[in-house]
Amino acid sequence: MEHNWKKIEEMFPVIRDMEKEKEVCWVNPRKVSFAVAQQMVDLTMADVEDAQKRLERFAPMIERCFPETKETHGIIESPLCRIPAMQQRLNEKYHSNLTGTLLLKKDSHLAIGGSIKARGGIYEVLKHTEEIALEKNLLTEEDLKGGTEASKQAYYHLADESARKVFGQYELHAASTGNLGLSIGIMSAAIGYDVTVHMSVDAKEWKKERLRQHGVRVIEYATDYNAAVEKGRKKAAQKPNSYFVDDENSVNLFLGYAVAAKRLIGQLKDLSIPVDEAHPLFVYIPCGVGGAPGGVSFGLKQVFGDLVHCFFVEPVKAPCMLLGMSTGLHDEVSIREIGLDAKTHADGLAVARPSKFIGKVMEPFMSGEFTLKDSKLYQYMHDLLETEDVFLEPSACAAFQGPAMISSSAEMHTYLEEHGLLSKMSQATHIAWATGGGLVPAQVIAAYKKEVIED
Ligand SMILES: *Cc1c(COP(=O)(O)O)cnc(C)c1O
Repeated sequence: MEHNWKKIEEMFPVIRDMEKEKEVCWVNPRKVSFAVAQQMVDLTMADVEDAQKRLERFAPMIERCFPETKETHGIIESPLCRIPAMQQRLNEKYHSNLTGTLLLKKDSHLAIGGSIKARGGIYEVLKHTEEIALEKNLLTEEDLKGGTEASKQAYYHLADESARKVFGQYELHAASTGNLGLSIGIMSAAIGYDVTVHMSVDAKEWKKERLRQHGVRVIEYATDYNAAVEKGRKKAAQKPNSYFVDDENSVNLFLGYAVAAKRLIGQLKDLSIPVDEAHPLFVYIPCGVGGAPGGVSFGLKQVFGDLVHCFFVEPVKAPCMLLGMSTGLHDEVSIREIGLDAKTHADGLAVARPSKFIGKVMEPFMSGEFTLKDSKLYQYMHDLLETEDVFLEPSACAAFQGPAMISSSAEMHTYLEEHGLLSKMSQATHIAWATGGGLVPAQVIAAYKKEVIED
């Protein structure tokens, strides 16, 4: 579609800054109250709970295949931690004035995938597996209700050699900038699928290598993420026994991510952190195609309603969700149309065009967006290492742009004022959602540490 950019820029001046690769803080003018927003979408808490129960049913199988999940009995969940030294660093170094409590949600340390993709990606593989298992009489309708010893046993036995042979007759495909491929590839290989990951040009070498070690077929493309998705989708469509995990369209991925929210309630309680009228919650999540931050935020809105304020963060070189959201054009627009090329060190966020449905679903729920320069990714990476001794991959470090900017930007000040939040900021909780880094090999970490970036 041809767009009249002169007119669009006049209507949405933020685009002028985006074209110049300036960092922006953007407040979503289409956000409405949770009660109104919920009327605008078909998905509900019941869908999220359905996903959560499915993950619980599969827990015996996951625990059996992945001993690293023994402690959580097959439930894949990450810690939530206080990071006071990082908060102090942000305030001092970036002239931020963040009061309240800063927390780190360590999806970087999720079992199996080492990134937030271990939520959505693994969930979708399991959902598909359940369908095949039912069709092939490896599970009964009764097993799908869960909660019984028989059901537990049935799911446990999905990892038997005989079941693996059945799944081996099916092909599974996914396209990825790296992390989605890792989560889907590792889980699919464990179940026994004939699995292929279509990797975009941004994908890191070690991620491809790791997948090959797991017996996953890796096809490399010299194209960007959206083109890799297109290729994978076509390839999967050629065979009847083939399934494509479609990151640009998948409701399953979305719901897998959303499950994080209910589990967060207990984690906040364990830290004695309230979320109520006097104690608002702010969440900052790095965004690529939008599935992960969209799904997690959707779940959080279902759980906390108007008490939670969800912000996405993107690199200045690939702000596809911001372009889609701010113009309302969503997936009808690519950042290439405003002269950007998605070439960013944030490999997990190197996306030129957002998901086909996330933007539309999240439009009434999402509070706003931050963008940041690539050099900041590395600065925050060093800051976190130095203050808290936690390593995150550069993409994940984007999350810190939120806490660094929320209390110093004029746009955000207006947001806080309009929502009656200014007086509550000293009792607010901020969660930087660490989306990846857990599987990064030591020598790659060492190389990241030496990286010097000129914007
Ligand atoms: C994939 C990814 C994201 C964003 O997820 P999307 O669903 O693409 O928006 C953020 N951080 C990391 C490290 C990722 O791998």
